[in-house]
Amino acid sequence: MLSRDKLISLLGVNGNNVLQLMVDANSLRETNNITFSKNVFLPLTNICRNNCGYCTFRRDPEAPDATLIMPPEEVMGIIHKADIYNCREALFTFGEQADATFQVKDALEKLGFEGMLDYLYHLCERTLNETGLLPHSNPGVLQKSELKMLKEVNASMGLMLENTSPRLMEIPAHQNSPGKEPSLRIKTIENAGKLKIPFTTGLLIGVGESLEERADSLLELRRIQDKYGHIQEIIIQNFKPKPGIEMEKYPEPSLLDMIRTVAVTKLLFPECGVQVPPNLNHSTAPIFLLAGADDWGGVSPLTKDYVNPESPWPEVDELKRFTEELGFQLEERLPVYQKYIKKDFLSDSILRKIS
Ligand code: SF4
Repeated sequence: MLSRDKLISLLGVNGNNVLQLMVDANSLRETNNITFSKNVFLPLTNICRNNCGYCTFRRDPEAPDATLIMPPEEVMGIIHKADIYNCREALFTFGEQADATFQVKDALEKLGFEGMLDYLYHLCERTLNETGLLPHSNPGVLQKSELKMLKEVNASMGLMLENTSPRLMEIPAHQNSPGKEPSLRIKTIENAGKLKIPFTTGLLIGVGESLEERADSLLELRRIQDKYGHIQEIIIQNFKPKPGIEMEKYPEPSLLDMIRTVAVTKLLFPECGVQVPPNLNHSTAPIFLLAGADDWGGVSPLTKDYVNPESPWPEVDELKRFTEELGFQLEERLPVYQKYIKKDFLSDSILRKIS
């Protein structure tokens, strides 16, 4: 176990110590395989109770380009098409607690649903019954009973921890985002652990956090993982300035900063996948493989990344090329990692589907 002081010092090393850090992290990989999941992105609504300083996805319900709710025929039409492309992950990602607005609540009621999670459950169930895809949902902060219900129809679920520092609630990143309160997110991740839900989480890098706060966030995830063992992968996602966002003038984290954070994450979590989104690091993505990253996350041959629409995903062939260039092999995986494909972690309907 790395101490807090050691972590903070590693997150700030330079010179040859960076190379050593990369070598140390890279030596922990279990295989030469770099995994990815062929997915389809389903942004059910862009209404969100939060208003993060770096977001381009969220809309007010009155906005002309707001999607109050994607109707079921549209969602299922996309998933059926994804089935033809051999996608295996239906990624349901959308704004948090959108049904707290009367506009979304009304739209859902017209479709015959009480709320977002009721609707999500219905879509996940249909996905399992009608297609060859497995649902992976990211609905935001949830109660334990809600997680329990969704476990029945999800192969894995996710919630970015982002950072444990309450200080970020006072700066542009999260000052208008009640759902980004760290204690709520920690509780959701812990409850997923109690329920044995294979889980994806991660950190957001470069939104105003210090190295100490980054180290504390990693240590908090380590504490949770030691207790429950359900974290299958950790995403290290870099902030990208975009025109029109509140944090437009914030600098993005340096490549060196990202390399150090990825390597330290692998050192602290040798048993987990460490993922860097290739679409946010188009020209630099391969270097992270030399720093211990071993997963590219979801890559869609069909839909764009609606949360970062200006950053297209590299084609699978391109991913394969730069993975192999470094001597690794690209390997497709399911949204649930192999070691979690067992009765403890998955419902009967998900296990049946996988088998
Ligand atoms: S980043 Fe996510 S949580 Fe924050 S406002 Fe956008 S959609 Fe909502």
